Amino acid sequence: IRYVEGQGWHDAKVVPRGPLSIDPASTVLHYGQEIFEGLKAYRGKNGDITLFRPGANAARFAASARRLAMAELPEDLFMGAIENLLKVDRDWVPQGSDQSLYLRPFMISNEVFLGVKRANEYLFVLLASPVGAYFSSGCVSVWVSDEYTRAAIGGTGEAKCGGNYASSLVPQQEAAEKGCDQVLFLDARERRYVDEMGGMNVMFVHKDGSVVTPPLSGAILRGITRDSLLKLGRKMGLTMREEPIAIDDVFAGAASGEIVEAFACGTAAVVSPIGSFHRASGDEARFGDGKTAGPVALRLREALSNVQRGEAEDSFHWVHHVTV
Ligand code: PMP
Repeated sequence: IRYVEGQGWHDAKVVPRGPLSIDPASTVLHYGQEIFEGLKAYRGKNGDITLFRPGANAARFAASARRLAMAELPEDLFMGAIENLLKVDRDWVPQGSDQSLYLRPFMISNEVFLGVKRANEYLFVLLASPVGAYFSSGCVSVWVSDEYTRAAIGGTGEAKCGGNYASSLVPQQEAAEKGCDQVLFLDARERRYVDEMGGMNVMFVHKDGSVVTPPLSGAILRGITRDSLLKLGRKMGLTMREEPIAIDDVFAGAASGEIVEAFACGTAAVVSPIGSFHRASGDEARFGDGKTAGPVALRLREALSNVQRGEAEDSFHWVHHVTV
C-alpha cells in the first residue's frame, strides 16, 4: 500500500514476493525511517485461522510511526492487509503446535529527497512466512551487555524501528562469542537496571512465587506478550509486579535462592525459560541446573499458548478470527 501526502493511502495489492524498486535518494536509505511489527496467524484444530491481539500491533505500529514522524496507517488498513494476504491461500497458515504463519508488516519512507525532515511518501508492505518454535529446546543462556545499551529514555527504544535493532547487532554478536544465545540490555543511564533482551522482554520469579518485570520506562518495547502475561498471570492468581530490577540483585538473588526462575517473552519466543545469565566479571546467575524450565514459566507458557491457539477460554477477547 502506498501513501502520498494529500492523496492518502492507495494502490493496495497482493503480489508474489520479489525485489522492491527503491530510488537511491529515498529518505529511508539515509535517515532510517523504517518501522515494523511481528505477529503470528495460527490455525486451530477446527481449521479456523486466528490472530492474537492484532489491534495491539496496529496501535503500536501507529505509535512507532508517530515517533519517527511517519504517516500513520489506520487500523482497518493494517487488518485489511493481513486478511487480503491470508485470503490468497489459507493453506499458508500451518497447523500443529509450535507452528504458525509469521507476519511482518513494515513501512518505509520512500520520498526521493536528501534532507532530514518528515517525508511525504511511504510504502507499507506485509511479508509472511511459516515458522516453527523460535528456540529449539531447553533454556536459553543470556549475556549481560554492560558496554552497549539499546536505547535511552527519550530515544526511540519504545518504537519498533529498524535502527534499534541495528544498534543491537554488535552486542548480540558479543553474546554469541561468549557462548550465549541472547543478550540482555541494561538501562542506558546507569547500566544498573534490567531493560530487555534483543527481541524479547524479560521476567523473574521470586521464591514466594511473585513475578516481576521492568516497568515501561520509555526505553523498552511495549511487548504485547509482556502485557498479556501480566494480565493472564493475575487472572491465574499470581502476583505480577512491574518494578525496576537491579542487575546486581539478579545475580545476588540467583545465588541466595531469592530468585528462582527467569524467562524471556515475546511473539517469536512466546515464553522461553532462561537457564543462566553471564557477565564480563565472569559471574554466573544460574537457575536450577541451568537446563530445566521452571514451573511458573511453563504454567504461563501453557496458559498463553492455549489462549492463542483457541484451546482455552478467551476471557480478555484477545483472539481475532479471520474470515477468509
Ligand atoms: N522487545 C523487543 C526489543 C522486541 O523486538 C520484541 C518483539 N517484538 C519484544 C520485546 C516483545 O514484544 P511482543 O511481545 O509484542 O512480540
